[in-house]
Amino acid sequence: MLKANITLFRVFGIPVEVNVSWFIIFALVSWSLVSLYFPSNYPDMAVASYWIMGIAAALMLFASVVLHELSHSYVAKTHGVPITRITLFLFGGVSQMERESDSPDTEAKIAIAGPAMSFALMFAFFLAYYAVRGAGGTGGVAPVFRYLAIVNGMLGVFNLIPGFPLDGGRLLRAAIWKATGNLRKATYVATRVGNVVGIVFVLSGFLAVFWGYFIFGLWMVMIGFFLRQASAASYFHVVVEAALKGYKVRDAMRKDVVLVTGDISIQDLVDEYVFKHHLDCYPVVDGRELVGLVAVEDIKGMPRRVWASTPVASVMRTDLDKISVGPDDELAGVFRKTVGERCGRLPVVEGGEVVGVVARNDIVEAMRTLSHVRE
Ligand SMILES: [Zn+2]
Repeated sequence: MLKANITLFRVFGIPVEVNVSWFIIFALVSWSLVSLYFPSNYPDMAVASYWIMGIAAALMLFASVVLHELSHSYVAKTHGVPITRITLFLFGGVSQMERESDSPDTEAKIAIAGPAMSFALMFAFFLAYYAVRGAGGTGGVAPVFRYLAIVNGMLGVFNLIPGFPLDGGRLLRAAIWKATGNLRKATYVATRVGNVVGIVFVLSGFLAVFWGYFIFGLWMVMIGFFLRQASAASYFHVVVEAALKGYKVRDAMRKDVVLVTGDISIQDLVDEYVFKHHLDCYPVVDGRELVGLVAVEDIKGMPRRVWASTPVASVMRTDLDKISVGPDDELAGVFRKTVGERCGRLPVVEGGEVVGVVARNDIVEAMRTLSHVRE
């Protein structure tokens, strides 16, 4: 559940995605603004005004969260850490970096950039609020600005909670990293704190529900679960990175690779390859040259009656730089790539020709063996 992401738009070439859960939250936030927050704080306004105010406020809150993430991305980019994508979740966003920062100082700068933006927005909206009120504005504009100032302040404070992967957790990690010189240890401590913060959120959320603050409590519980899960995943990533450091694709790749040609039909692919080899993805070649990649996942949605008449070439992916790797690529980066992709296995290409395949499972296996050797 909640795995599906939809790309909304691109900024600086970075795709901004929303998790499907976000639409529910957006509706919930708009609804609570329209029917609870604005009517109870500013009674005696027209119902239509509450609607306009609520939706405008929700959209601007969304823009504020995007600006928070873009602020992280901008600083990361200027320090040479590429951002793969920005995903907006239940209560904020995650800027997914292509790799870890090189130094604790860079990490700290990237981390602080988000909350700094939120606090800057808080001041800007407070100024706008007082300006509108000073000019004698009596409509719905001033309340919206006031609300945005408050939530941006809350967003800044919330993100500074020192549990990884929140920004405050990243700052904590950078501080420990700087003091000990050990990224893995620093991540361990910061993610443990993240875990504890998550538990505190879940427990206080349940308490809040029992005290009658149902929506607020539920919100806390969800944030708590998200934090716990995210902190565990972050630690796993750093462990993977440490274990695979210095290893290349050729250390874990297989040479026996099942290839298909683009002219066979989907029906043939299913009958002769999928049923036989049970793999999730097949490199498509012309001779030995890679021309695409076809995933079982991509066929699933197609009606069966067109299988026989549709060639593999018409459904395969052709963004070759994304779906293939080189034998000298860093294994850690390739592992991240296989986790983000639909394919758990990617063709290894040298001079345009397929020389092997590297699978997520093989990397995990290699990691297990390597960790025994290293202990
Ligand atoms: Zn942030």
